[in-house]
Amino acid sequence: NTGNLKQLDKSHHLHPFTDFKDYATNGGRVFSRAEHIYIYTGDGHKMLDGMSGLWCCNLGYSQQGIVDAVTEQMQQLPYYNNFFQCSNQPAIELASALVEVTPDSFNHVFFTNSGSEANDTNLRLVSRYYQLQGRPEKKLIISRKNAYHGSTIAAACLGGMGPMHEQTNGIDYVHHIEQPHWFEVGPDEDPDEFGLRVARLLEQKIDELGEANVAAFIAEPVQGAGGVIIPPDTYWPEIQRICNERDILLIADEVICGFGRTGEYWGSETYGIEPDLMTFAKAVTNGYQPLGGVMVGDKVADVLLSHEGEFAHGLTYSGHPAAAAAGLATLRILREGNIIADTAANIAPHFQARLRELEDHGIVGQVRGRGMFAAVELVRDKASREPLAAESAGALFCRNSANDLGLMVRQTGNAMIIAPPLICDKGEIDSLVDMLGQALDVTAKHYGV
Ligand code: PLP
Repeated sequence: NTGNLKQLDKSHHLHPFTDFKDYATNGGRVFSRAEHIYIYTGDGHKMLDGMSGLWCCNLGYSQQGIVDAVTEQMQQLPYYNNFFQCSNQPAIELASALVEVTPDSFNHVFFTNSGSEANDTNLRLVSRYYQLQGRPEKKLIISRKNAYHGSTIAAACLGGMGPMHEQTNGIDYVHHIEQPHWFEVGPDEDPDEFGLRVARLLEQKIDELGEANVAAFIAEPVQGAGGVIIPPDTYWPEIQRICNERDILLIADEVICGFGRTGEYWGSETYGIEPDLMTFAKAVTNGYQPLGGVMVGDKVADVLLSHEGEFAHGLTYSGHPAAAAAGLATLRILREGNIIADTAANIAPHFQARLRELEDHGIVGQVRGRGMFAAVELVRDKASREPLAAESAGALFCRNSANDLGLMVRQTGNAMIIAPPLICDKGEIDSLVDMLGQALDVTAKHYGV
C-alpha cells in the first residue's frame, strides 16, 4: 500500500536533487501510473504533467508503439554490446534514422545512456580530435554560467550552476561566460545590443585564454534548466561567427531542445546554428528507455575516421538494443504523425499566446518561451523587476500551489518553468494555463501583492 511504500522510500531511497533531510521528514509523492499527459499517485492524486517528466516524454505516456518495440526487442535480443567489432540491428537502424533527421553535415552517432555521459563523450571526442591533429594543447572548454549539462563530474563542471560546482571537485579546464539572460540585466539595455554584448564575451574569453589553448564552446540553443533563457536574435549569429573565425569547435547541447521542443527536430535548426557536435538524450526514446548520444559532424568525424588507433571510450550499454528500439519507434511515431511540424504550427502558438496572457497578472514580470517550453518570471514589482521573494521562495511556493491544484510544473530561480508534451490539444493547454493562473493567484495572496 502507498503508506508503506512512502515509508520504505524515506527509509532507503536517496533521491536525486533532493534535500535528504527534508525528504526523510516530509516525504513526497509516489507515482504509480500514467496515461496520455496525466500522471497518477498511488493515493489517487491526478496531475497534468506540464513538464513532460523531466522534459523527455514529448509524446506523453500512452505510446504503445514504443512499449511494443521494446518488448519485442527484449524477446529477440535483450542485450548485446557494441564494443570492438560488434553491433546490433536496432542500434544500426537508429544511427541511420538519426542521421536522416539531422542537418547534412552530420553522418555519425556515438551512443551513451544519458545526456551527462554524452557530454562527457563530447569532451573525449574533442580531445581526440585535437590530439590526432597534433594540437594537444587545445584543451580548454568554454561554457556558460547557470548552464546545466548533466551530473557526472565533467558534466557538472561544464554546467555553471552554483551548488553543483560547490559540491564537485572541479576539473580545471572549463571556463564560464555569462548567459544571455536579458530579463536579469533590467529593461534599460536594448535586447539586441545585449545579445551582441554577451556573445562577444566568448571572443574576450578566447583572447584571455589564448586561441591556441581553447578547444570548444558548449551551450544549449535555449538554456532549459537554467530558466528557459530565450537568447536575443543577435546572440547565436554572433556566437557562430566567433566559433567559425576563431578555430574552436561548437557543441550544441540538444538534450532538452532536441526532438521538437523548439519547433524543429533540433534547437540548432530553429536558431540557425551550425554546430560541430550535438548532444542528445531524453526525448529520443520519449523517456521510456535510457539513451543519449552525440551526433558527430563531418568536421570531427573525418579526423576520427582517417586515423588509425582505438578511440578508448565506451559504455557497456552504448547502443543497447532495447533502448535503440525505443528510439527507433519514437522517431517513427514523430515522423509518421508529422508531430513536430503540426505541434509547431497549431499547438505551440496557442500555448505561447495563452501564457502571454499571464503577463497581466500582478506578480508576473515576464513570460518568455519558444515552441513548447516557457518560463514565467515572478516579481514583487513589475517596473523594478524585484523578485517576488528572496531565495526563490515565491516561485517555490507557486510551484507547490500548482502541484496541489493538480499541475506538475517546475521552478528555477524566481521563474516557473512549463514544458508540456507536444501532443497536448488546445483544451489541455487551456487547463494547464488556468491552473497556473490559479497558482499565481494563491501565491500573490500569500505574499500580499
Ligand atoms: N544536458 C542538458 C541540457 C540537460 O537538460 C540534461 C538533463 O536535464 C543533461 C544534459 C543531462 O542529461 P541526463 O540527465 O540524461 O544525464
